[in-house]
Amino acid sequence: MRGTGSQIDGCALVTGAGSGIGRATARSLAGRGAAVGIMDCAHDASDETASEIVSEGGQAKAVWGDVSVEEDVARAFGETAAAFGSINIVVACAGVEVLGKLGEIAMDDWNRAIEVNLTGTMLVARQAVQSMLDIGGGAFVAISSDAGVRGSAGAVPYCVSKHGVVGLVRCMAIDYGGRGIRSNVVCPSFVETPMAERIFAVDGYEEREWAAKVPLGRFATPDEIADVVCHLVSDEARYTNGSVYMADGGLTAGL
Ligand code: NAD
Repeated sequence: MRGTGSQIDGCALVTGAGSGIGRATARSLAGRGAAVGIMDCAHDASDETASEIVSEGGQAKAVWGDVSVEEDVARAFGETAAAFGSINIVVACAGVEVLGKLGEIAMDDWNRAIEVNLTGTMLVARQAVQSMLDIGGGAFVAISSDAGVRGSAGAVPYCVSKHGVVGLVRCMAIDYGGRGIRSNVVCPSFVETPMAERIFAVDGYEEREWAAKVPLGRFATPDEIADVVCHLVSDEARYTNGSVYMADGGLTAGL
């Protein structure tokens, strides 16, 4: 568990917290003082993240569920709130990589990208808004991608779903900022996680070539993205609402 940075009070729910960026974010939030609901569709993975945090002295509870299923989302919020009290921080990180050019993609793959990455984020965001309106406010962060703000070769389902996430968060910032809910979206480029490993195992994605395009010359670590998320949900970012935060090493700076 990482405990650097400013204190973060209250109760958080993180989706996709069984792996990669979500796990790092849950650990960082817990390290700064928050109690965290660990939502993931992989049972073992969510249990593992929660156990890690608890064994290091933090507060966490595994709340299994699929973000694209409305009942699962409601149950995960309910179980987290029952364990730790009202939820004032939500991080929507769960996502799947579905690649392919328009002429190549199967409808099932398209539907999966939209259901998990976009509808799933919307369902989590909607539940987050309901919880936070009850307590007078809170902070919501979604994880999009550099592919959420620019075209990406051979990645139509992923790219379209991540553009949708940016639009969703911008609307939330406008609709609910006045009621105390800050909504922001983080757009990383490649991050060293199991998802990136799977992408680089696909033909046409050359790891070294991509890293060379990043002005900082390397990919992000999950902890570096977690630090950005923690900043955005903390009081340090109390005037930040509706931002599209490029945590991409400068990859898109020249656009
Ligand atoms: P990851 O595959 O390591 O972890 C994703 C987690 O989400 C897994 O534990 C998985 O079980 C969970 N998940 C998947 N579908 C789910 C569902 N329907 N319901 C609940 N949980 C579900 O991936 P990661 O790299 O940590 O990615 C996290 C987020 O960051 C994703 O939204 C991804 O698109 C985004 N992102 C990743 C990168 C990267 O290079 N790794 C870059 C930009 C954006």
